[in-house]
Amino acid sequence: MRIAMVTLFPEMLSMVSDLGVTGRAVRDDRLQLRAVNPRDYTTDRHRSVDDRPYGGGPGMVMRPEPLAAALEAGREFAGEAAPVIYLSPQGRKFDHERAKSLAETPGMVLLAGRYEGVDERLVRSAVDEEVSIGDYVLSGGELAALVVVDAVARLLPGVLGHEDSAEEDSFAQGLLDCPHFTRPEQYKGEDVPAVLLSGDHAAIRRWRLKQALGRTWERRPDLLEALEKRRELTAEEQL
Ligand code: SAM
Repeated sequence: MRIAMVTLFPEMLSMVSDLGVTGRAVRDDRLQLRAVNPRDYTTDRHRSVDDRPYGGGPGMVMRPEPLAAALEAGREFAGEAAPVIYLSPQGRKFDHERAKSLAETPGMVLLAGRYEGVDERLVRSAVDEEVSIGDYVLSGGELAALVVVDAVARLLPGVLGHEDSAEEDSFAQGLLDCPHFTRPEQYKGEDVPAVLLSGDHAAIRRWRLKQALGRTWERRPDLLEALEKRRELTAEEQL
């Protein structure tokens, strides 16, 4: 998959391109990342990417022309069909379902805003979708773009070491994940649940499913309601 990030801070992309699961995906060539700096597409002496807002008021607004040219360069890299996604607190909230559908596309262009945001005419003419990562305001779209890159990349085929690990994560089956334990067997007076040491794989699977259901019921009952609407719970889940 090819992802271009249009940003005034290209160095921020190294957080995903160099480290961890996403870094490995880049090294294995399953993920290609490119930062495109709108400053490189300015034509004035000061290489200005922002200007004062019409109508007055605080802050600056990102100018449309350098952004349009940078998005075009991003599309050349990510593919002509790649959706242009503007990370914005006013967008639709990002979730597992959107990550999954984006993981099926061959590429995307992510636009990270700064200042008060970008000129609205640029959004209307060049953006396919606005995506928010939550109801709070960041000082720039880069962290939001990196969240999208990470969440999507780990769903790409072959990116996670164990083939099933994304399948068992929270949200994949509509539930939260079960709790996990590792050595030592006893920690701060608490033992690892005996079933996990039993070697009985069917019993372990049932225990994990029960835990996942219990946690979801306690912490995110809305997920269970959504799951019930989508499908009947299986006989095993009803145990
Ligand atoms: N004036 C804008 C508003 O209130 O809607 C906020 C601008 S914010 C300071 C600068 C940039 O950060 C935005 O253009 C956007 O790219 C990014 N950003 C801020 N919060 C975000 C969020 N919750 N999700 C995604 N991007 C966000």
